[in-house]
Order: sequence, then structure tokens, then C-alpha cells
Amino acid sequence: MFGYGRSNFTWNGTLRELEGSCPTCFTERGRPSMTASTSSSSGLEVLLSTLQNAGDVESTLNILNVLDELLSAGTDRRIHYMISKGGSEALLTALVNTGRSFSPNYTLLLPLLHLLAKVGHRDRRIGVKAEDAGAALLTLNLLRHNVKHARRAAACLWVIQVFSSSVSTANLIGENHGLDVIYRLIPQYTTKHLHAIKAAIDAFAALLCTKANVCSVVSKGYVSGLLRLYGDWHAKATQHAAMAICHSLLRCLHKVTHSTAGRQAFVSQGGIRLLYGTTQTCLLSKGLESLVEPSVQLMRKCLPKTPLPLTSDRSAYTFPMPGRPHAVPDMDAEPDENSEESDDEEAEDNKEADFDDDLETDLSKLRLRPDPDRPKELLPQYNRLCPELSHDFQELGLSSEPEESSTASSSSSSSDEEAAPLNGSQCHGSRRGAARSESSASSSGSHSETDPEGPAPAAAQLEARDFHSHSSILSTSPSFRTKVREARDEASLGQGGEDQGDEEEDADNHRTMIDRLLERRGACIPHHEPKLYRAAAAKTKSIPGFSILAFPDFWGHLPPPGHESMAPRKPNIQRQKVFEDAQRFLSTDGIINQVVFDLEDSSLQCPSDTLKFFSKFECGNLRKAVQVRRNEYDLILNADANSCQHTQWFYFEVSNMVAAVPYRFNVINCEKSNSQFNYGMQPVLYSVREALEGKPHWVRTGTEICYFRNHFCPARGRRRTTFYTLTFTITFKHNEDVCYLAYHYPYTYSALKAHLKVLQKSVDPAKVFFQQQVLCGTLAGNACPVITITACPASRSWIDMHQLRNRPCIMLTGRVHPGESNASWVMKGTLEFLCSSDPVAQSLREAFVFKIIPMLNPDGVINGTNRCDLNSEDLNRQWCKPNPVLSPTIYHTKGLLYYLSSIGRTPLVFCDYHGHSRKKNVFLYGCSVKETLWQSGSAVNTVGLKEDPGYRTIPKTLDRLAPAFSFNSCNYLVEKSRSATARVVVWREMGVLRSYTMESTHNGCDQGIYKGLQTGTRELQEMGMMFCHSLLSVTKDVKALCSQSLISQIDLDHNVLDHKSHNCFEDDEPPCVEEIEYSADCPALKGADLDSDVNGNTASADEEEEGDEERREAEQRRGGVGQSQQSSAKGRLFPHLARQASAETLGENRNACNGQITS
Ligand SMILES: [Zn+2]
Repeated sequence: MFGYGRSNFTWNGTLRELEGSCPTCFTERGRPSMTASTSSSSGLEVLLSTLQNAGDVESTLNILNVLDELLSAGTDRRIHYMISKGGSEALLTALVNTGRSFSPNYTLLLPLLHLLAKVGHRDRRIGVKAEDAGAALLTLNLLRHNVKHARRAAACLWVIQVFSSSVSTANLIGENHGLDVIYRLIPQYTTKHLHAIKAAIDAFAALLCTKANVCSVVSKGYVSGLLRLYGDWHAKATQHAAMAICHSLLRCLHKVTHSTAGRQAFVSQGGIRLLYGTTQTCLLSKGLESLVEPSVQLMRKCLPKTPLPLTSDRSAYTFPMPGRPHAVPDMDAEPDENSEESDDEEAEDNKEADFDDDLETDLSKLRLRPDPDRPKELLPQYNRLCPELSHDFQELGLSSEPEESSTASSSSSSSDEEAAPLNGSQCHGSRRGAARSESSASSSGSHSETDPEGPAPAAAQLEARDFHSHSSILSTSPSFRTKVREARDEASLGQGGEDQGDEEEDADNHRTMIDRLLERRGACIPHHEPKLYRAAAAKTKSIPGFSILAFPDFWGHLPPPGHESMAPRKPNIQRQKVFEDAQRFLSTDGIINQVVFDLEDSSLQCPSDTLKFFSKFECGNLRKAVQVRRNEYDLILNADANSCQHTQWFYFEVSNMVAAVPYRFNVINCEKSNSQFNYGMQPVLYSVREALEGKPHWVRTGTEICYFRNHFCPARGRRRTTFYTLTFTITFKHNEDVCYLAYHYPYTYSALKAHLKVLQKSVDPAKVFFQQQVLCGTLAGNACPVITITACPASRSWIDMHQLRNRPCIMLTGRVHPGESNASWVMKGTLEFLCSSDPVAQSLREAFVFKIIPMLNPDGVINGTNRCDLNSEDLNRQWCKPNPVLSPTIYHTKGLLYYLSSIGRTPLVFCDYHGHSRKKNVFLYGCSVKETLWQSGSAVNTVGLKEDPGYRTIPKTLDRLAPAFSFNSCNYLVEKSRSATARVVVWREMGVLRSYTMESTHNGCDQGIYKGLQTGTRELQEMGMMFCHSLLSVTKDVKALCSQSLISQIDLDHNVLDHKSHNCFEDDEPPCVEEIEYSADCPALKGADLDSDVNGNTASADEEEEGDEERREAEQRRGGVGQSQQSSAKGRLFPHLARQASAETLGENRNACNGQITS
């Protein structure tokens, strides 16, 4: 016999199977017969159905008690199981049945509401279900009738909070004045009924999940009320409960400020001032610390949107596109929906689900080669780019004249380079003449393309002032003036020794002086010749017509001695910076707001006591500098040419500083959503003074570095764009120095040209076949170099020539993204290694022909863009069908690949060098059908799928060889969003198994021997060298002539170099000291929080009003939240049970039950 239920209530024991539970509360009446049932439905279903059919009060209470017992123990799985069995609906029906009567039975309603809150909180569809059952408005009605009954009100409020997870339910409650009812329940500070007050605020916050409710709250002026409440509660928030209420109020404010009107109300009602003040108090009291972060984020979010002080968001550099006479491509176009464009291959930035969705699962797209994008007839033109195939190596017989043979070798085909390097004494006229003769020479070449460089227009411009910093030093620094005068006095000796005014430097004198400086102080920098650089720069074509060289590019850079550790992140740095920004808004004291540099206004005069900025040089990027406070400057970067976005890269000159003064710089229009600047990365600085003193180093520098979302918005239109501030503080070492600051070690196009020239001179032409050609001209008319490197054959014998012409090809490309200058440094390492006399390099040259296109985007690099080419397109998304006019470098690189395929020389390895701004280490992305299908969870059966695992050989080898490389960061997934990248297209269309993107960090490593260090150019170049080493690993499967002894040498090296702790599986970032919150969302209320609130309510001794003091005392007597407290609470909630069984018995029974569950 079963006393509680109706006749159909049977107990068949299957409830145990559900979650292994059993209703112990029945035991005092004797354990019911578990085998009595013949019903096929489970016990839980029976309980639920009984509950809905509204039996007598006592049996319903019993069922509620059973359910509560069941759900309180164990995990959420039970609740989810109950939800799947219609638990929510049953509770809602019971609620409606009980609650709709004229005078509802609160003995029944309270436990029902409590249970509903707990269950509903885990039911994603509870809102809809509540609407369907008619429970939403019913609960609101119950609340209206019980505003004076704290416990009842609290129970209703929790349920309303839970229902509000659905937008339509929240709107329904809002429309029926739920917000007003609840708002009126929130009092000024009191010590009474804290549970109910918190429940009201939480319900209020939950209702603010909808636009309509937020609008209504704002229009009714509740924002000022909420602020007043926060101020009041905060002032008295000395106890934990009041703190919780402050948190809840902040949550309301966070929600309400999701809307523009809400933010405006917040600001106009003094919200920022209030939070600024309260937060200062919080900082003084450790107990209030937890309120600081949400307050700071609220302030950051609500600082009024301020348009960037620009006349237009368009880049200051526009370039007329072919076919579009005026450079106004999509002038007012909104940027892509996905304006947070990621670095190439940065799929992991997306959410896990998005990421998996992005994987290519269409087997035909993964396996079948698409048709070529052009007819075969267009391919023979690329024959000229394979000079090693046609070269006859006649000079090999003439070993007595290696110099001549070198010339013959390098000029045998269409060399675009100067015949000889210019020396310092050469005058301008002859330089221009040289340029002209070259252009005529190359246009008469065998191929149809004309030399894109043409005559050098920039040469004349360079006469005026070779580099800006130099003149700055002349005009500013006394010590330098002395130094430079000294040099110039010597220089002018031959010219009569007149001492002219510093400012009126004559061009010839100037140049002579540079020569002198170079002679006397020029550092011996390997593979760098300043004069060669100047000559190369004179031919470089830029949109603004640069006439000035940045000193570091001209003078050269040596890696500083020693390693540079990542910068320690100061605790709470972001908070401090946001405070400072808020101060700017709150008070005008000390605010200057004066433009001191404007790229578009060279006539701008700035006061003599401010920093001076300059960026009109190759790769330079700074559009505007605004002095904000005495030693603080806002910097605005120039958008990519012909575009209005992609700002991230910067490179500029700064001078007129005072030593030992900390200057704060804020780059205020960065676009990436996060940055390694938050994780130990520092910008780089080059001091001209240090360079002249023999320390020509780019060094990592800056303190108080932090990257966060700010309150700036585009100057016009473009509403969706969000900007981020990179802030850093620099204390300069010297007075009146000239310094350069950059996002990363700059590497200009002119540097590449000069470097290739030096390399060409450095190789032994009898051994190394090194040929530089022009792949094509760029949009702006610069040459895109392509280099062929291989070993000269041992002799002109048939067998040696045959071996040469059958060497497999390896193609390497880089710097398609101009802001990724690290890719160029890695490429520099690769090029220098391949040209070196190292035995491994010799073996590689003998085994392979290297085709290297070191800079796929010269125009972008030159003009200081971050991501795009001049046509404002990301060139690494053009590979599917590149436009020959708009993306010539990609079109012809792909053409060369097609050509190589067509003559049976498909590259064995293809690798595109990139830089990664948000991850550490160096790693590869490759392509694998199987791994993509596995990762996507695709149903395609991969058992019969054959795939050569050889794509893993190089990453595995690199993991052993290259200290900066991390195998664990590599992946081989083919994403749909990357289908037009070099890696995927070369793999899919050319069938190159080993097709990679190499990503090098802008920051440093979190594993291996470089762990905790930022990478410098030395490490980047080493990486380029190690990549070459790793290519030995693929020589085994082509019958290459690479000697086995070398391979075994590599294997021996493994023991020395095997420094990896192969268990560094932690994915990306180490946990940061401080949570960096970028979303505008406030933290969600956790399920456990609500549970504890609900349980707390059950602990109230009486349904009727009870003084808070008393309740606290009662709590103290009970001694915390323990078993006994819950049991006694249960006893009060289910009074009839308490009459029948002592709390102790219940506790024991529960223990017994738990024992059964877990056994
Ligand atoms: Zn990239």
C-alpha cells in the first residue's frame, strides 16, 4: 500500500535505473514494494503525471519532496533527465493549477516555485514552455499579490528570472508591467529581506535581455534610479549580502547599457563619475575589490563614443586603380560583416562550433582538382623563370675568370638589377643615368613584360634630405650637432671648409657627411650596405613619393646581444589605463588635445616642447598624433591604401624627447580583437644616437603595455567598427634623440632589393646558381623579384646537366601580408642559408631547385599597409582565380606553379611565410583530407581513403631542429574560409602534398629553450635556416643525391637539439593575471548561484515576515550551510514531514540513499 499516491501510483523500481536514485523519504513508512508494479512507464514519469493531475495537498507535497530529494543529490544530469521526461511541463501545470485559484495554497506553491526555479534554470526552453502553460503571467500576478511577503515574492522572482531566458517571455512580462512591479520592489539600503531584494534585482537584470525591455527601462528613467540605488548600496556595502546586491545592480547597468540610449542615459546621469568614485573607494578596501573589474568594464563600455579626429576614415594614401581613373573604390562601403578579420589561418579564433562548421567536408572539393583558371597557352611565358633549365653553364670551363662568369650568369636572362652597386662618390646624375640604361636593357629582354621599374623618379627626391632623422639631429641635439659637425668639418675640408648653418645643409655636403659617418661609425652589419640600400630606395615607387629614408633601414640593424624576456604584465594595468581614460572624460584639467603631427598636413606647426613625429617613409605608418596630456599622445594609424580599415602595423619616427621622462603612447585605432601585447609582447625601438654609438639595434621596449577595446569610433559612417587601444609607456634614454618605434622589426622592400644584391655578390658563382628575375610588375610599378637558387652542375657533362635539370623544385613565398614583417626576417634567414657555404646548404642546392618569391606584396609593404595590396584586397584570398591586372603577383606566382606542373616539375614543397599576431611560437599549417574529415566529425568513411602521411615529415623534423617551432601548434585542416589561400590552392590545384603556411609569432615562445623570451631577428633568421634544414627530411623519398652522411648528421644533431618538452599541450595563452574582458557582456548568473539563493530562501524559518536579524541569528545557530541546515529547512518547507520524521532521520536517510547511489 502506498499512502501518498493515487491508486495508479505504482513503484516499479525503474526509478533507480534512471539515475540510481530512490525516494528515501518514504522509508519511515516502510519501504514500498519495489516489485509491485506492472506498469511500463518509469517511476519518474508516474510521479510527474501524478503531480500534474493535482491530487490532494499532502500527496502533491510528497511528490515535490521526492523530486527535490532526487534533484538535490547528484549532478545536473538528473535534472536534465527530468527535463527530458517532461518535468518542466509537469511543474508548470502544477503551478498553474495551484496558482490560479482565488486564494492559492502557498504551502504548496512555495516548494513548487522553488523546484521550478531549480529545474527551469537548466531548461533552455523553459520560457516558451511557461508561456504555453500560461505560467508566465500567472507568476507575475502572484508576485503582484505578494509584494509584502518577502519569501513568496522571492520565489516568484526567481521563477520570473528563469522564465526570462526566453526573449519572447521576457517581452511578455515586460509588456505586462513586470519591470515596473519589480523595480518598485528594490529599496534603498536596508538590512531586511536581502534575499528578496537580490531576487528582484536579478529578475530585473534577467528581463533586460531584450531590446524592448531595455528601451522601456531607459525611457522610464530607471537608469538614474539604478545608479542612485548603486550609489546608496555601495556606500553601505560592508557586508557580504550587500556586496551581492551591488554586483546584481552592476549587472542591471551592464544590461541596460547594451543599448545606445542606455549608455547615453548612463553617462548623462553621471554614471561614469559615480563608478569612478565608487571604484576609488573599492580600491582602498580589499573586501570590495571584486566590484572593481565590473565597474571598470562598465566605464570603459560607456565612455561616450568619440569619432577619431579625422576628416575621413579612408586611408591618406589613395592609388588610382586600373580601369578606375579615380581612386574611389567602394567609398562608403561597409567593411565586411566579419570585420574582425583574422590573421591568415587563424581559425582557432572562432568559436569551436564555428570552427568545425568552417571545415571542408565535401569530399569532392577535398579530393578533386579544380580545372585550371587559365588556358594552357598562357603558360609558356613562364619558361623564362626557369633559367636553370636553359642555362648552358659555358663558364664552367673558364674557371680562370670566375668574375666574368658570374656576370654572365646573373645577366644571362632578364636581370632587373643595377649593373653594379653605386658607390658613395657617385653623383646623382649618373645614378639616374644608370637607372635609365637598366630599364632599356631589361625592356629589350626576351620576355614580353616591360620592366615595371622604369626610370627612377624617386632618385631626385632623395637628393634633398636622405633621411629625416639626420636633419632632426642636426637641428636639435647639441651633442649630435657636435658629432655631426665634426664629421661634416672633415667632409667640408675638400670643399673650402665653410661652415654653413645647420639647417641649410647643402645636399652634397650632406651626402658626404653621411659617407663620412658611415666610414667612421658605420657598424659592420652582415649582408647590409647602406649605400646599396639608398640606391635601392631611390628606385622604389610609393604612393606619396617618399623622399626620406628611415634611419634604421638605411643604417641597418644588428640583433642586440643577449635575449629579451617577455615583459611582465603589471597587475591591473588595464584597469589603471581605463581609469586614466575616464579621467580624461571627467575633467579637463591637464588635457591638451593638440594635434602635433598630421600626415596630410605638412604645414602643421607644433610647439617646441612636444614630441615630434614623422612617418613619411617606406613602411611608415602613422597618420596623426595628438598630444593628450603633457606626456601622453594618442596615435592614429593610417588605414591600408585605398581602404578604410586593417590598421594594426605601425612604424614612425619620434624626436624632441626629454630623457628619463615616461611618455605614454596610445595607438587608438587598432582593429584586432586581441593581441600578444597583452601577453608579454613589446613594440620595438631604434635609437639613432645609440646606433651612431655602435649599437644599431632594434630593441623590445615599453612598459605598462596593454591592449583593450576603447570608446573610439570611425570618423564617419562605419558604425560597426570597434577600435582597440594599444597603450605603452616609453622612457627614452637620451635627450633629443631621434628614435623609431614599430609594431615589429621593420623590413622594407628596398631592404629586400639591397639584400638580394648583396647576396648575389656573396655567392661563389662556380658553385651557386643564383638568379634574380622579375616575376612581374606590381600595380604601382615596382618589381616583384623571384630568385632561383640551386647548385651549379659539377661539369657540363650530360649526366651532371641531366641531374640538374631533374632536381625537384621547392617553392617558397612570403610577406603577402605587409604587417607581418617577421616573415621577411625568416625569409632572410632562408635566403642567406641557401646561399651559404654550409655543407647542408650545399646538399640542398644539389638536391633541389629553389624558386623563391620573398615579397608577394611589395606595394603594400612600401606604403605601410597592414593587410592588403593597393586594391584593398587581401592577396592571400585571391588564389582561386587571381586577377592578372589587380593581383599580378598572385596571378603570376600561380602561373609559374602551373607552368612547373605542366613540365612535370610540380614543387615537392610549397611554403608561404607569414606572421601571427595572436599566438606564440612558430608553426605550420598544412592540408590533410583525413584530418579534416576526422576533426569535422564527418560521416564520410575514411577507412578506404588513402593519404600519404608525408605532410607531417617537415613539421616533425622542425620540432626537433628549430627551437622556436612547436609541433603541437600545427594543424592540417582545410577550412572553407581558407579555400582561396596559397596553402590550400597549391595543395588542391597543384597537388602539392607538402603545402604549408608558416606562421611565426610576433611575440615569442612558450616552450623550448626560448620559453619566456621574445623573438628577435636572430631567432627569426635562425627559423628560416632551420626550415631549410628540415627540407633534408624529404630528400629520402626523392632519389636525391643528398649524402646519407648528412642525414645521419642531422639525426645525430637531434640528441643535441632535442630540447623540447614534448608535453606542452596547453594551447595558447598562459592564464593572464587579470581577466581581459572585451565583450560588452556581463558575466552570466551561474546556476549554482540561483540554487544557493533558492536554498537560502527555504532556510527562512517562517513564511511570514521575519526580521533579518533574527534570521541571521538563526543561521548562525544552525552553523552554516550544512546537511542539518538543509534538512531542517526541508522540514519547514514540508511541515507535515517534519511532524512525522525528525530532521536527523531525514539526513541519515539521505546519506543512506547517497550510499546506494554511489555504490
Ligand atoms: Zn599572414
